[in-house]
Amino acid sequence: MIYLKSPSEIEKIRAASQIIGELLDTLTAMIVPGISTWELDQYAESFIRERGGKPAFKGYKIPGLKPFPGTLCTSPNSCIVHGIPSKKVILKEGDIIGIDVGVIKDRYYGDAARTYAVGQISSEAARLMDVTRTALSLGIQAAVDGARVGDISYAVGSYIASQGYFPADDLTGHGVGIKLHEDPQIPNSGKAGYGPRLEAGMTLAIEPMVNIGTNRVIEKGWEFFAADGSLSAHYEHSILVTNAQAEILTKA
Ligand code: MG
Repeated sequence: MIYLKSPSEIEKIRAASQIIGELLDTLTAMIVPGISTWELDQYAESFIRERGGKPAFKGYKIPGLKPFPGTLCTSPNSCIVHGIPSKKVILKEGDIIGIDVGVIKDRYYGDAARTYAVGQISSEAARLMDVTRTALSLGIQAAVDGARVGDISYAVGSYIASQGYFPADDLTGHGVGIKLHEDPQIPNSGKAGYGPRLEAGMTLAIEPMVNIGTNRVIEKGWEFFAADGSLSAHYEHSILVTNAQAEILTKA
C-alpha cells in the first residue's frame, strides 16, 4: 500500500529529513584520512539525539541477522550499502565512502545517503560519484505527479548504462515517512511508463547504488559488495512528490 501523506505528516517527515541533510553536510569536514567509521557513527548519533531525533537504522531487524548496530551505514570502496561502523575501519587517502542515515522524529522518518571522497581520490572514483549523483537528480526530476515508478527507474538506469556503469542488483529505493521502508519499491533500472502511478503527497526515497564493473552483488551478513571488487557509490534523497518539481526533503 502506498501512503499519501497529509500536510501535517509532511511537516514531520520534513523535520526528520532536515536533521539528515544537516548531518550529511556536517560530516563532510570530518571525513579525512585516519578517522574510523565508528567515530563518525558516534558523532552522528549525538547529532541526531541533540536535535530531538532518533537513529532509524539502529536496532533495525531483518530475519537471520543481529539487529543493525549503527546509526550510520558506512560503506567504503567496493561496499555498496549497509556497511557496519567499526573501530577497525579507518579511512585512508583515496577511499570513497557511502554514508546512509535514517532519522525518526515525532514518529516520522527520513532517509538519505551520500558518497564522500577521503582526501585526494582517483579520477575514476570521482567520475563514479558524479554519475551516481546525476542519476539521483534525474530520478528526482522524473518523480512528478502523474508519472509512474518506472519513469524514475528508467531515468536512473538508462543514464547509468549510458555512462558504462551498473546499478547494483536487487537494491532499490522505496516509499518512506510513516515507516522507514514503505511501498513502492523503486528499482534503479526499468521501463518508462510502467509501475504504480505517482501522486502529489507521496514521499519517496530514491537511491541509485552504482558499481563500476558489474551489477552483481555479494552479501556478507548486513554488508553488500560489488561482486568484482570494483568501486561503488550511493546517493539518496527523501523527496515529496508535488504537482511541479519534487521537493527534496533531505537537503540541508
Ligand atoms: Mg533508503
